Amino acid sequence: MHEYSVVSELVASLLPQLDSYPGKVITVYLKKGEMRILSDWALKNAFEIIAQGTRLDEASLEIEEVEARIRCPECGYTGKAEYLDDPAFHFVIPVLTCPRCGAEVDVLSGRELYIDRVSIESPEPSQNGT
Ligand SMILES: [Zn+2]
Repeated sequence: MHEYSVVSELVASLLPQLDSYPGKVITVYLKKGEMRILSDWALKNAFEIIAQGTRLDEASLEIEEVEARIRCPECGYTGKAEYLDDPAFHFVIPVLTCPRCGAEVDVLSGRELYIDRVSIESPEPSQNGT
């Protein structure tokens, strides 16, 4: 499954970064662009499997959607890619044209996929100040 390899890569690159932060990992926040055709359910499911036996074992994965925004080089339209709102689409089909003039547009956001931040429980409060 595509989601599995995606999460596997994200976790593999995250783990070394956590080395300098002791404490239990509570939540991993994933930023996911609207244009990414990935199932939240499958991502979370993959995370659970991949996290086993790592420091992320008991952590939960929170997925935060990033709104798709486009910019038209022809007419200057900047904004949300409106066709994405159509509830008839089960999956987003990125037709990258300007809703105002039909020109091809640049995508400003909506293709993100990265771990934004991680919440970690502070280690036991054993430090007694000064
Ligand atoms: Zn335009």
